[in-house]
Amino acid sequence: MSLLTLDGSSGEGGGQILRTALALAMVTATPVRVEHIRKKRRKPGLLRQHLTCIEAATAITAAEVRGAHLGSLELEFRPGRIRAGAYEFAVGTAGSTTLVLQTVLPALFAATAPSTLTIRGGTHNPMAPPFEFLAHTYAPILARMGADVSLTLEQPGFYPAGGGCIRARVAAARLQPIALVDRGDHGGFLAHALLAQLPRSVGERQVQVIHDSGIPGPAELLVEEVQALSPGNALAIHLRFHEITEVVTTLGERGVRAEDVARRLVEAAFSYLRLDAPVDEFLADQLLLPLAIAGGGTFRTGRPSSHTRTNAAVIERVLPVRFSFTPEPGETWRVEVNSR
Ligand code: AMP
Repeated sequence: MSLLTLDGSSGEGGGQILRTALALAMVTATPVRVEHIRKKRRKPGLLRQHLTCIEAATAITAAEVRGAHLGSLELEFRPGRIRAGAYEFAVGTAGSTTLVLQTVLPALFAATAPSTLTIRGGTHNPMAPPFEFLAHTYAPILARMGADVSLTLEQPGFYPAGGGCIRARVAAARLQPIALVDRGDHGGFLAHALLAQLPRSVGERQVQVIHDSGIPGPAELLVEEVQALSPGNALAIHLRFHEITEVVTTLGERGVRAEDVARRLVEAAFSYLRLDAPVDEFLADQLLLPLAIAGGGTFRTGRPSSHTRTNAAVIERVLPVRFSFTPEPGETWRVEVNSR
């Protein structure tokens, strides 16, 4: 079969192009070459977390691979047949476990039997979906599309030491199109502070700021102290609507007061509430591939990010779909996926 060549520096130019290329190669059994991988980034080429994505994709499809080494700007990936199984992968550092999981999920849906995955590394990273977003925003939408994914946070892992662990049980599934156009009724919110090696009072002050912020609806507050290799503070607000639970998240930072971390997150929650569309910027780019595999679907969101535009362009190169992005009156957009 001829080799499909993708430019890893096009558009947004980040790791997502590589991950989407791997996922597409696996589900279509198409060999791909990705060139100029993360070429314009400060540390160009493949990083440890990308190598784990490749390793996972290789194990699941018995792929032949060239160029899978640190700093590599070019990868050739020739997948074999998708095999369900019990898989274990380790990112090694605090690299994102959730991005590894997202890379291989579409392939595991296309398998003929259920699989289990154990992935070690970071579970709450900047620039990646934190575990709570995956478990409470992303997975439930996939469930509405016909998937059956159960996720467990065995052990949180924070930068720099990592050492976290997530487990997933993934059933084979044929994804169905979905229309996600309204949020539906608002059912209150959960403010959740996760703390490792930090005083409980940090989390208590954070959930109090969220409680007092004026976010509408009944509030549930949860401060959870956990063991982890590095200190860490992940803060989440779960905004519960009938059609979707939106999880906005942030990470505590050394030198930033607990209240200020919480205020920053409250701002993000209000941006979402003001937007009046169900799908946030992050879910938008992450939903494109499942919808394309389903062969159709639509959702409403804010202005598409460059991640979203780039991901759509990569997917259109491989699957027989077209994405359309249509601005609506106000600040919302409608995204549609159609078979061509
Ligand atoms: P990349 O920058 O190409 O490695 O892609 C990062 C991925 O992580 C994208 O799919 C983003 O939507 C996702 N992401 C980054 N930050 C968050 C967040 N706070 N919540 C959910 N997803 C996120």
